[in-house]
Amino acid sequence: MKACRYQAPGGPEVLRFEDAPDPEPGAGEALVRVSACGVNRIDVWARSGRYKTALPHIPGTDIAGEVVSIGPGVKGVEEGAGVLVYPVLSDGTCEYCRQGRPNLCLARGFIGIATDGGYAELVKVPAANLLPLGDLDPKTAASLPVNFGTAWNGLVTKAGVGKGDTVLVWGAAGGLGHAAVQIAKHFGARVIAAVGDAKKAQFLKSLGADAVLDSKSPDFVERVRALTDGLGASVVFDHVGGDTWPASFGSLARGGRMLTLGLTSGPKSEVDVRRVYQDELKLMGVYGQSRDDLRRVMDLAAAGSLKPSIYEALPLRSAREAHEAIESREVQGKILLTP
Ligand SMILES: [Zn+2]
Repeated sequence: MKACRYQAPGGPEVLRFEDAPDPEPGAGEALVRVSACGVNRIDVWARSGRYKTALPHIPGTDIAGEVVSIGPGVKGVEEGAGVLVYPVLSDGTCEYCRQGRPNLCLARGFIGIATDGGYAELVKVPAANLLPLGDLDPKTAASLPVNFGTAWNGLVTKAGVGKGDTVLVWGAAGGLGHAAVQIAKHFGARVIAAVGDAKKAQFLKSLGADAVLDSKSPDFVERVRALTDGLGASVVFDHVGGDTWPASFGSLARGGRMLTLGLTSGPKSEVDVRRVYQDELKLMGVYGQSRDDLRRVMDLAAAGSLKPSIYEALPLRSAREAHEAIESREVQGKILLTP
């Protein structure tokens, strides 16, 4: 088969479009022909060496396609079925799996990091990770797990966002950010979208953002307060991390919920923790998603209530360009590869 893979971590140029052995499904696995694969920041982190992978490695966590064959012992999966791959790997037996929290599994991993992923014509995955596509088209489906599923876990499952909330979303025009804006709007919240490039304001307004702020503005926190009658945002969706934590905490209303995930800008930050107890702030980590999070996102996407904005769908051989675009922060919405 053809695949885009790297022999050693490095810049986007290490991604090579080349022949790779066809994977063979083992017990409990299915072989999927990839129709579309989402390109995400975590693919960039794998390729650059921030996440360790086997070598050579095929990235790609968000996979939609069609079942080609199944391995021994697989039941309830039919060849030819359209599927979306739930990307979280878990052992199904540990304390956290028993609690229904596979994203906290002691043996957790992501397809495309712990195993070869979807930058390929074919990929083998655990059959238990297959969700039926239903009416969803593969490109929409492949835009959902890492961005919409994770944003749902944070905003809905963790923070219970709803009417009366004001949600501040950092990096709002990217894959994860544009998902967070749509989900918060779907539940009736007011959204303040923070972006580093004023050219993206129109895109965010089209997604329903109520206000757009320049994330580099020196009086950013004052602007958030000015937009919220001095109270601050009741929910902050921060997937940037070290660089934005001080402004995130500064922007939170009393009793506010701070969602932290991703950490694009690195893990170190300095915040005044007094506010956490004096104003009863809630700090919530968000890591991946449950199957149920993803199923609910799929249902809303199928109904047209959530609409991934597809910035570009590129052929498989263009994985390098896709990574360069993500790293340039030019992207509005999703980039996909279509093998
Ligand atoms: Zn487990």
